[in-house]
Amino acid sequence: MGPNPQKTSPRIILHLDMDSFYASVEMQKRPEIRGKPVVIGADPKNGKGRGVVATCSYEARAFGIRSAMPISQAFSLCPHAVFLPPDFSLYARTSSEIMTCLRGFGFLFQQVSIDEAFLDLSPLGSFSAAGVLAREIKTSIRTATGLSCSAGVAPTKIVAKIASDFQKPDGLTVVEEGQAASFLAPLPVRKIPGIGKKSEQELNGIGIRSIGDLAAYDVQKLITIFGRGGIALHEIALGIDDSEVQERDGMKSVSRETTFEQDTDDLATLVFVLDSLVEDVHRDLVGEELRFRTVTVKIRYEGFVTRTRAKTLMHYTDSKRMLRSSAQDLLRILWGGNSVRLIGLRVSSLEKTDACQMTLDSSGSQEPFS
Ligand SMILES: [Mg+2]
Repeated sequence: MGPNPQKTSPRIILHLDMDSFYASVEMQKRPEIRGKPVVIGADPKNGKGRGVVATCSYEARAFGIRSAMPISQAFSLCPHAVFLPPDFSLYARTSSEIMTCLRGFGFLFQQVSIDEAFLDLSPLGSFSAAGVLAREIKTSIRTATGLSCSAGVAPTKIVAKIASDFQKPDGLTVVEEGQAASFLAPLPVRKIPGIGKKSEQELNGIGIRSIGDLAAYDVQKLITIFGRGGIALHEIALGIDDSEVQERDGMKSVSRETTFEQDTDDLATLVFVLDSLVEDVHRDLVGEELRFRTVTVKIRYEGFVTRTRAKTLMHYTDSKRMLRSSAQDLLRILWGGNSVRLIGLRVSSLEKTDACQMTLDSSGSQEPFS
């Protein structure tokens, strides 16, 4: 018998995620804060501040500080931490450098957030070759920016994403074809992107703690409990995921989304994160000399229930203020007060900007909170 003509080479997907991105960028900019607990977010005002932690360094995490935690709580956990307001334009510039570096490797590429991307390394033909390249990519990002990242290589996008989170920071985890289900099995269900505290509790309540428990569970019962989301959950647990690495459809739309580390029902947090998406999307628009007319906000609740709401403006614009106010209006209309797992922003109905009509968006200076 000759080789099986049906045999196809494996899909090999790389997911790359920068390590505590905003905090690491701040440490590059201000070497004097390196190694210290750094908290980026709202002004703590000596413990009386409102608002939340956007992100924090690993040193701050050691004090129990987490993303989306009230800034007052972060302050009481570690009053001597360095508290900084976010400098989104700096993060966006650094992100572009990273993404340019990643694109330069010449594989199918998909940026999924300011500090995360997928590459389709299938043309390499083997997981060992992909592992070697992943190491090279990590080195070249460090050389270009001084920053570390974690990478996951796997046969599917979701497993690659879970793998990149497996050995943070500065990790590399390779899950070869046929090993996905056994890699996932011992992990807690919370490691599945989209599973928040509430879904986790529901799953725990029916005896499902690990992803392996979920894979072994009767899919009909999952459907009874989670609706159509139950099928998706079960497939994820089995390592089944056919979604492709998709290059951005450049001229049709520009979008970004963020998945919260913890679900949140805090409006200030939602607005804060939406503002960071506004910064990212607007930077891309200006970079590609585009103006938009339609703004869409997407919210995903627990259990994969997703809602979107769009608004089309009278005129094309590249105004960041207009983008921000439209996005915030849509969020207020859309959001019903439930815990949010993911928030996304898209602009569409795009046209090229005339060079003479470019608007200038000045960015303010950024000082540490005193
Ligand atoms: Mg990251």
